[in-house]
Amino acid sequence: MERFVEEAVVLASLDYGDADRVVTLFTRGRGRLSAFAAGARKSKRRFAGALELGTHLKAQLVERRGDTCRLDSVDIVSSFFTLREDLPRISRALYCLELCRELTRDHQPHEPLFDCLLAYLTELDARRAGPTSLLKFELDALRLTGFMPRFAPCAICGSLTGTRPRFDPEAGGVTCEGCAHRVPQGLPVTAEVVEALARLQAGERTPLPPETRARCRELLNVFIAHHLGRKLKSVDFMHQVGTD
Ligand SMILES: [Zn+2]
Repeated sequence: MERFVEEAVVLASLDYGDADRVVTLFTRGRGRLSAFAAGARKSKRRFAGALELGTHLKAQLVERRGDTCRLDSVDIVSSFFTLREDLPRISRALYCLELCRELTRDHQPHEPLFDCLLAYLTELDARRAGPTSLLKFELDALRLTGFMPRFAPCAICGSLTGTRPRFDPEAGGVTCEGCAHRVPQGLPVTAEVVEALARLQAGERTPLPPETRARCRELLNVFIAHHLGRKLKSVDFMHQVGTD
């Protein structure tokens, strides 16, 4: 059985039996994987605080038969302690972790997404990540996993002229008036929202006004839920704590 060390972020953690835990790790080199942490709940010393969601680790792992690895030991690189101080930042971090968990598959490496997640958690921890940067993270995560939404040209006919009044998740982007009329599905969108998202996708970092952000959030929620087949649970949590 191969032993290996991987840099990882804890995406999910589930109690197993009386004493153990199964954690979902996002590793730099091997993508998402599940690991069995024997005695994680009994022996506080062995994994002391290291298996909290969002913790950045160096994990010593051993391959086992089946899909789940064995987690032998961990060194904490960063616990991101300060981001755990308030609910809005906790809810944004949980949202990003859930998004990464759902957009990736076991044993498929996504190193650029791993770096992107780590950079976002670091910014959030340092209080440098506002709500607009969460939208930017989502657009990056979608692009890096092959789900990039398109904000021009029309996703159905490719036309660049005229307005694009609808966003059709099935088609993967905005649609022109003619196509929106023929295939009347998706969300009505304003030119302002389409432009705001296109600018963010292109790398612009100017904070958006709350009303525009709220419309962008709705659009991305619909798009992500369409591609994953369900709404992310942490969307409701963000809503409950009044953050976006
Ligand atoms: Zn069209």
